[in-house]
Amino acid sequence: MVIATTPTNITEALEFLSEKDAIIMNGGTDLMVKKKSWSGTIPSFDKSILFINSLKELKQVSTEKNNLIIGSGCTFSQLERSPLVPIYLKVVIREIASPAIRNLATIGGNICNASPAGDILTPLYALDAKLRLVSRNKERIIPIKEFIIGPGKTLLNANELLTEIIIENYNNKKFYYHKLGTRKATALAKASFIGFYEVENNIIRDLRIAFGSVGPVVIKDRDLELTLVGGSIKDTRYKICEIVERYSELIRPINDARSTAKYRKAVCLNLLRNFLLNELSK
Ligand SMILES: Cc1cc2nc3c(=O)[nH]c(=O)nc-3n(C[C@H](O)[C@H](O)[C@H](O)COP(=O)(O)OP(=O)(O)OC[C@H]3O[C@@H](n4cnc5c(N)ncnc54)[C@H](O)[C@@H]3O)c2cc1C
Repeated sequence: MVIATTPTNITEALEFLSEKDAIIMNGGTDLMVKKKSWSGTIPSFDKSILFINSLKELKQVSTEKNNLIIGSGCTFSQLERSPLVPIYLKVVIREIASPAIRNLATIGGNICNASPAGDILTPLYALDAKLRLVSRNKERIIPIKEFIIGPGKTLLNANELLTEIIIENYNNKKFYYHKLGTRKATALAKASFIGFYEVENNIIRDLRIAFGSVGPVVIKDRDLELTLVGGSIKDTRYKICEIVERYSELIRPINDARSTAKYRKAVCLNLLRNFLLNELSK
């Protein structure tokens, strides 16, 4: 029998998921579009629905040592207002949809929807964020890069709930972010770029780079980042052609209604060049 339920706590939600093959609904901003029927009629769901947007346990933001822990049910508006959320996430959030959508849309929904254009994924990939997945009898923590395996595809089991997003060493960092969309609000990204950097006495102490909307999943390569860590800004300038070439091989955009593959790639590589040649020395 197909039913809909609104649990009062996580335990009840996990109980339901262990018994029913259900669709988890948070803000519904992706699901209601995906499941829409003919014009004017209400969306149709072929499975039971678990409404989790009233679960307070999923709406907490906290810090523990150097970790920022974000509940999967936090809406983007809530995160925009939270004093614990670093500015680099707020800057990304302010370019997601419109305020009305951000009042409903959750960080957990953005992750589990696994769209290559999901804006919050770009900084989360860059920072190697981890996800806590919980079922009735088990709990596991996995990196976001392993969790998302393709457009719309994740390793979430049917009986699991994403409960938390963990960002280690989350403290404010220098960053460079660009989202390219047709307009400022309510536009999915044609491409996005984020670079985080820590430079001391002209030496790169840390570097994190991710590109969104230009491949089946967000592009992030720790090994490539590490080829620059420990080197000087001058070394980076010498290596620029090689680095751009290597990212060019990883960036595999498509032509679609939003943009062309050629434009997307060119813009991403320009942003990368600007980040490495100009931003790092600021
Ligand atoms: C007009 C409009 C504009 C938009 N603009 C943008 C934009 O600029 N950038 C952008 O990134 N996105 C955009 N979106 C997409 C959407 O708003 C986001 O992806 C949003 O974060 C989804 O969150 P939600 O809570 O509404 O997810 P839902 O629709 O409730 O769920 C999405 C998916 O995640 C699963 N899910 C949700 N929470 C959990 C959980 N805790 N555990 C396990 N599975 C879960 C659901 O089962 C579903 O598969 C836009 C959407 C609309 C309608």
